[in-house]
Amino acid sequence: MPGGWSKQQDVNRLADAQTELEYSIPVSDLPGLADKVSADSGPLQARLSFGREQGMPVVDIAVGGAVWLQCQRCMRRYEQPLDLHSRAALLQSEEDADRAPASLETVLAPEGRVSAAALVNEEVLLAIPLAPRHLDESQCATEVVAVTVAPPAEVTEEADTRRPFADLQALLKKGRA
Ligand SMILES: [Zn+2]
Repeated sequence: MPGGWSKQQDVNRLADAQTELEYSIPVSDLPGLADKVSADSGPLQARLSFGREQGMPVVDIAVGGAVWLQCQRCMRRYEQPLDLHSRAALLQSEEDADRAPASLETVLAPEGRVSAAALVNEEVLLAIPLAPRHLDESQCATEVVAVTVAPPAEVTEEADTRRPFADLQALLKKGRA
């Protein structure tokens, strides 16, 4: 179902049915990422497996794909691959935090509901560095930005063949004379 990742789902039902959800989610549908990654990043592959641990609904989250980030050292874009795996306890209220298995991350699912997009969003946000940089610093130094020199745009009158260099030569001769 297209866009099914945005739907709020009941975490207890997902946990009891041991539901597995697989989605290919466009980055533009992950609102928390909009200002962090380039919009032309490809879709992210997400797999969510729900279950229970110590009675609590939990979810195994796997996210793959890649996002385009801006390197804060050289200000150019680079592609950061993602291969994320984690397990989180789904809290229905803040008080649930005390019952959650200590080893797990926690995600708040208000009123016991959460969307796949929100879970993936959270996971990816945690993985993106605050100040993204090329993993290999040498890439900042060696890849030189190509500057394309555009031909002069203002050729207005075809009859008027302007010859700036001829003028320049004339000037130089004048200067020497
Ligand atoms: Zn860089």
